[in-house]
Amino acid sequence: MEFNVFEHFKGFERTSEGPRTPEEQGTRFFLGGHLGPRISEHLDASATKAGLSRRTFLASASALPAAMLAVNNITGMRFFDVTPAEAYEPAAAKEIKVSRKPGSDFIVDAHTHICTRKDGYIPGINTTERGMWFVQLLDDLGKAMGLPNGTKDMTVENFGKLILEGSDTSVAVFNPFGFREDYGGKDMIPIEEQAEVKRRWPTRTVMLGGGLTPNQGLSETLERMTMFVEKYQISGLKLYTFDSTKKRGWWFDDQKQAYPMWEKARKLGLKNIGCHKGIPFGQFMARYAHPEDLDAVCDDFPDLNFIAYHSAWPYQHELAALKGFKPQRKNLYAEVGSTFAATVTNRPLECAHVLGTLLRDLGPDYVMWGTDSALWGNPQWQIDAFRKFRIPDQLVEGHGYPPLTDELKAKVFGLNAARIWNLKTTTSAAPMEPRRAVAV
Ligand SMILES: [Zn+2]
Repeated sequence: MEFNVFEHFKGFERTSEGPRTPEEQGTRFFLGGHLGPRISEHLDASATKAGLSRRTFLASASALPAAMLAVNNITGMRFFDVTPAEAYEPAAAKEIKVSRKPGSDFIVDAHTHICTRKDGYIPGINTTERGMWFVQLLDDLGKAMGLPNGTKDMTVENFGKLILEGSDTSVAVFNPFGFREDYGGKDMIPIEEQAEVKRRWPTRTVMLGGGLTPNQGLSETLERMTMFVEKYQISGLKLYTFDSTKKRGWWFDDQKQAYPMWEKARKLGLKNIGCHKGIPFGQFMARYAHPEDLDAVCDDFPDLNFIAYHSAWPYQHELAALKGFKPQRKNLYAEVGSTFAATVTNRPLECAHVLGTLLRDLGPDYVMWGTDSALWGNPQWQIDAFRKFRIPDQLVEGHGYPPLTDELKAKVFGLNAARIWNLKTTTSAAPMEPRRAVAV
């Protein structure tokens, strides 16, 4: 689930045509946040310098660097490695992008979705009011992000076009949505439809199973998990501890309800278990969005990896404390989907704190890149933003955060995910061993 981005970005301007380029897509989110009006003035100045109309400038390669430079200037802190030339010379900005050799970064997007199903979502027929609210939210987000038909454009076809072809993503891990109580007894994205993504791009995708909650009956849940492995050869799980049953949620450390699932996963050879944490929006109860239930399972199932999606934001401190105070842990991960996109554009200081806290306490080998696309459309602007993002020196000094070096970004971008999903990397650097100390 994602959070209601339009409540968060009150200044976001929805246009009928939508963004024309990934640069414009990202820039519009910078403009929609609370710094938006001031960023806007800087963009106008850059457009004038470039000799372009604002409209043309917004779609140029300089738009995003200009927004980033504006953030540096407004805050007086260096959040982005960006040069003034990039901000008003689209040719220079383009060259900087192009001079980065393709394949020099190995990027695994640990958090991607398709979001349509063949029978659609028909209110009152196969979709409840609550289910419709969620579909509508994703629909709005997609439209803002350049998908004219919203969720109807979050198809298998577009998954390939936007994520695999349209961005620098090397491998995409696709995540399921369940909540079948809200969708006529069938998962919001049924596994048989998801499997098409894997069939089309077998070497560039990783398929996770999901829609499992013990509140739908434990033995039925274990049977479905087995079926996912036998029939679809899934590579892991992505679950939600909120659900649409009457109980509304469950915990990973429930010894009666959840432990049999982890024992089963272990038997089936599923090593990577992800869970939506944080972003407690809509009908989802905050209590199930807290990451504290990962504490006991990490100890009791040391051979399984547990991944907190969204980095449990805004509870990232609770997540980080699970390792900050128990540094011996080697199986607790964070993924940054939606959290990075929402904070980098709107609250850069918070973004630096979230990343800094995770990298300091979980460690640089345990934080993974993710974008929550295709809900956020083409993920390229998020990739560009992370390439340029830095943790300002004051925060590195004052909080003991590691600086965001290229070596560290390479781990977050792909090497950590490559290690746990056994992916062949395209970079010369070998995936790090989990225990290797990191020089930063
Ligand atoms: Zn998601």
